[in-house]
Amino acid sequence: MSKAYEIIRHTYDAVVVGAGGAALRATLGMAEKGLKTACITKVFPTRSHTVAAQGGISAALGNMGEDDWRWHMYDTVKGSDWLGDQDAIEYMCREAMQAVIELEHYGVPFSRTESGKIYQRPFGGMTTRYGKGVAQRTCAAADHTGHAILQTLYQQSLKHEAEFFIEYFALDLVMDEGECRGVLAWRLDDGTLHLFRAHMTVLATGGYGRTYFSSTSAHTCTGDGNAMVLRAGLPLQDMEFVQFHPTGIYGAGCLITEGVRGEGGYLTNSEGERFMERYAPHAKDLASRDVVSRAMTIEIREGRGLGPEKDHLHLHLEHLDPAVIQERLPGVAETARIFGGIDVTREPIPVLPTVHYNMGGVPTNYRAEVLTLKDGDPETVVPGLMAIGEGACVSVHGANRLGSNSLLDLVVFGRAAALRCAELIRPRQMHKPLPEGACDTTLARFDRLRHASGSRRTADIRLDMQRTMQSHASVFRTGEVLREGVKALKRIMDSFSDVCIRDRSLVWNTDLLETLELENLLQQAMVTVAAALNREESRGSHAREDFPERDDVHWLKHSLIWLDQRHETTIAYRPVHLHTLTSDVEPIPPQKRVY
Ligand SMILES: Cc1cc2nc3c(=O)[nH]c(=O)nc-3n(C[C@H](O)[C@H](O)[C@H](O)COP(=O)(O)OP(=O)(O)OC[C@H]3O[C@@H](n4cnc5c(N)ncnc54)[C@H](O)[C@@H]3O)c2cc1C
Repeated sequence: MSKAYEIIRHTYDAVVVGAGGAALRATLGMAEKGLKTACITKVFPTRSHTVAAQGGISAALGNMGEDDWRWHMYDTVKGSDWLGDQDAIEYMCREAMQAVIELEHYGVPFSRTESGKIYQRPFGGMTTRYGKGVAQRTCAAADHTGHAILQTLYQQSLKHEAEFFIEYFALDLVMDEGECRGVLAWRLDDGTLHLFRAHMTVLATGGYGRTYFSSTSAHTCTGDGNAMVLRAGLPLQDMEFVQFHPTGIYGAGCLITEGVRGEGGYLTNSEGERFMERYAPHAKDLASRDVVSRAMTIEIREGRGLGPEKDHLHLHLEHLDPAVIQERLPGVAETARIFGGIDVTREPIPVLPTVHYNMGGVPTNYRAEVLTLKDGDPETVVPGLMAIGEGACVSVHGANRLGSNSLLDLVVFGRAAALRCAELIRPRQMHKPLPEGACDTTLARFDRLRHASGSRRTADIRLDMQRTMQSHASVFRTGEVLREGVKALKRIMDSFSDVCIRDRSLVWNTDLLETLELENLLQQAMVTVAAALNREESRGSHAREDFPERDDVHWLKHSLIWLDQRHETTIAYRPVHLHTLTSDVEPIPPQKRVY
């Protein structure tokens, strides 16, 4: 097979797959350390989904009231419903202040307070004094924080001479005896194939929101790195935990940031009632996302939704001062106007819980090294492979992520990956020879899809999958519905062998590209539903109506899931790290979550 396709070879110290916030922070850090670093990305770096992040990035800077990183840690552990690894959470929360100041020094144009400090807004689940007060912890550049971070990190990476390979689609990891030796990629604009050999391959390919019909994430969020990991025979972790954001615009799916509620926005039902006061008397509209999404789903189910179908709710900003909207939420006003035809200064926005974030992904330790289960040890490091960002499961978000903790996760663990690489790799270190045919399986898969001549269109199979996920792995789940979901997905995956590609060329073949992405999505959809069926409890974003309680006796553990070529899954477990990294802070024992 390697003879049919000519492969152009490259050798680097490290290769980063992706160019979102996590990837760029890692790329910059590695280049700064003198490592020869390649960054390969399927879209132009500043078009990565990170660009859409509106609300902000958390850090206990205390610019707008008292704050402490230990309170941030407590909120994150509680938000995770105790499934987060506390050593990693400690690392993230204590590094946060420095990480944000570093971004400021790199040039991120944060909004400012009167006295010139970084502006911070309240966000769901972020409190002071272990739940007693409301924290203003989320640092914002108006409502385009992700955009500002991405532009800045890209410019800094260029300054430090990282090498970019833009519009290259990574196909698969190159594995050799359990070790990752690099990645094989397809250059989209001229159709050539490229083998990147590296001592460390860092996956930063983002989430897989596009497995669902209604999602706030970009069409490019197909979790390609996660699927590469599954095909390499490695497990993914906690895939059952999918976050629904309470406020996607009804009909369009676009996100309205939680920052709106942070600035004083609130939700109402068809009776005009501020129903969150009933579900979360204390935190109200700023309870964590899983809590608000479930409350909204119950309101709609019980007939208090709005519109002819009674299928959405209202988000109000019209009571806010238009000057505040103009200054702090200009993008929200624009999105509501374009996608909902709404003038937010006069009328409420119709909203509905929409798939937003994947807590699950590639298991790693807090140094970003990928983990697998080997000889009974679930902490075994996979040599040569790291994962960061939304595609990774460190796990700092556990069963549910708090808003503004993802951008923080990107920069903290992007940096941690670079630091660890600098420890492990000597610049320009020699590469071991790669066995003949190391890319054969990937090339065979690529060639088979390129020449696929079945009867089903890629778009039809994708729609089948997205509708199945939307109806079978939603905000509320039951064993029966999930079981049907597994069956339906098996049928859909089987139908993929009958896919049809019309374009046989290699240059800008979007038909083939979308089909490769669909195969990746299908594999992740399957492990998501299978893991959800397996977890017989309710925790964080995973709400089982047939098992409504959190069950720490049986389920205080991460699930690891493998997928074989017959689409069968295997599940094992990894203990949650209930210990902290240092003795500066006590572990936070599991408690019932009250809002
Ligand atoms: C609308 C929206 C708003 C959000 N707002 C916030 C917020 O305010 N605060 C917050 O903390 N979080 C927010 N989030 C979450 C957060 O933005 C994301 O989790 C985060 O940006 C993901 O970053 P990433 O670096 O992991 O990946 P992404 O930014 O998704 O980038 C993925 C990268 O991988 C590359 N890639 C993927 N597959 C391949 C392949 N096969 N070959 C080559 N390259 C590939 C892509 O080209 C891209 O560069 C928001 C998310 C959304 C969708």
